[in-house]
Amino acid sequence: MTNLNDHKVLVTGSSRGIGAGIAKVLADMGAQVAVTYSSSKEPAEKVLASLPGEGHLLIQLNVGDPESVDAAFKTINEKWGSITGLVNNAGITADQLLMRLKPEDFDRVIDTNLKGTFLCTKAATKPMMKARKGSIVNITSVIGQMGNAGQSNYAASKAGTEAFAKSVAQEIASRNVRVNNVAPGFIVTDMTDVLPDEQKKAILANIPMNQLGNVEDVAMAVAFLLSDDSKYITGQTIAVNGGLYM
Ligand code: NAP
Repeated sequence: MTNLNDHKVLVTGSSRGIGAGIAKVLADMGAQVAVTYSSSKEPAEKVLASLPGEGHLLIQLNVGDPESVDAAFKTINEKWGSITGLVNNAGITADQLLMRLKPEDFDRVIDTNLKGTFLCTKAATKPMMKARKGSIVNITSVIGQMGNAGQSNYAASKAGTEAFAKSVAQEIASRNVRVNNVAPGFIVTDMTDVLPDEQKKAILANIPMNQLGNVEDVAMAVAFLLSDDSKYITGQTIAVNGGLYM
């Protein structure tokens, strides 16, 4: 099993869904985890309580707000003294066909998914570069790779994140800080629960493995990219999508 002893990892948006699954898998592998939520405090407290091991943190964080990001990293630096890993997982959708897509819904998705990744990456990179060790993993999406009608804002935020990761990876590789992406396909969470049955059926028909993924499938790829097992891998994207997009 991948070993994450001595790793201290902030997982944004870990009160629910994929983020909560990542927090659990990382803690199972020995990492200390900072669990964050934006509004779901109670579910986040339950995630925290379920983690094995000690030294985990619970932090309120709005990734799109520079002040909130500064405050979260201040708390982490005070409590942990260092951070070895960041998982930019927090993300939202606001789906609409282009003709009906409001500028504020475009901004909202870009602010959380892309700007949030920028702000947290910038804050985490400084101490990692100083320590000459660190790994950043962004949760992007198959939608950023293949596009999807009704999700132009979301697709742009995820494709933008992949390009952002490649650029930052080149800036900081010489300091032994790596930046990679995990691009899930359709995973069973609140985000996919809301899809109409007809749409779910159509999605399944296009997945060669004929099933949706689960949060652990994504978390295992994240754990690999955070660990020293992937120490020569940077600027890459691992797709966890059942073959939906190759
Ligand atoms: P989810 O169940 O809706 O959970 C979203 C998480 O993000 C929650 O913890 C939420 O916190 C947090 N969050 C939302 N806005 C935030 C903000 N402004 N600042 C900080 N945290 C915020 O979503 P999910 O399905 O697990 O998705 C997680 C990531 O995987 C997202 O980046 C998503 O785009 C990506 N993804 C998901 C799928 C899928 O099939 N589910 C597929 C591909 C990619 P609160 O609970 O406090 O609201």
